[in-house]
Amino acid sequence: MSSETMVKIENLSVTINGKTVLRNINLEVPKNTIFAIMGPSGSGKSTLLRAINKLWDLYPQVKVTGKIYVNGTDVNKMPPHELRKIVGMVFQRPNPFPHMSIFDNVAIGLRLHKLVKSKEELRERVEWALKKAYLWDEVKDDLKKKAHALSGGQQQRLCIARAIALKPKVLLMDEPTSALDVVSTKKIEENIVELKKDFTIIIVTHNPQQAARISDYVAFIYNGELVEVGPTSEIFTRPKNPLTEKYVLGKV
Ligand code: ADP
Ligand code: MG
Repeated sequence: MSSETMVKIENLSVTINGKTVLRNINLEVPKNTIFAIMGPSGSGKSTLLRAINKLWDLYPQVKVTGKIYVNGTDVNKMPPHELRKIVGMVFQRPNPFPHMSIFDNVAIGLRLHKLVKSKEELRERVEWALKKAYLWDEVKDDLKKKAHALSGGQQQRLCIARAIALKPKVLLMDEPTSALDVVSTKKIEENIVELKKDFTIIIVTHNPQQAARISDYVAFIYNGELVEVGPTSEIFTRPKNPLTEKYVLGKV
């Protein structure tokens, strides 16, 4: 595997209750890029992200085969708490701990994993994460405020701060803006583009325009199969597969 590869997926298949929802997926995600996974609803995008983060392990009805490497290590050889430190996740619906303060939402993972040595270092890291998530200026005067008192867009940026506070290698984002208005969406898209300096980002979207706006590479998944993958500029100007062409033109 190239040292420039952050995530490598080999022959990944997932069956749920005997039904194949992902079939033989092969992908390589280069470091410090934004890699979009696009496809219509039900095509298997979330299933793929959940496989990277081993979130299927607790579901006996789900069978995952194939190999996934993160930063060169087979995720099946990593205990879950080690994987959580190097792979962060942000979901479609902002899901901060609603009754916890802004500060504690960002601090909780750092405390659990004992990633900081002092209160001072904890404060610094929380500030760093909130700044990286473009939220600091809006909340710095009241970090004790409960998360539920924030707007939807602010809550999602808080979830981004919570994920990046651990300084993971990879950030998985599952339709992170689809529950948000256009202004919040634009802010988060700008934020994601900034974040690729520090992280490798895999973002799921059902919106091809979003993939075109922010990603470096894009994989088009349809009906559980990888139809086409490549640099975003190529996929959107010279798609090789007629189905990809239809999809990027908004006709699927
Ligand atoms: P997408 O994120 O592209 O909309 P998903 O990965 O959520 O698609 O779903 C892909 C397929 O897997 C769908 O047919 C869906 O019904 C099925 N599926 C996903 N999660 C589950 C689950 N927990 N139980 C049963 N079927 C599921
Ligand atoms: Mg989904």
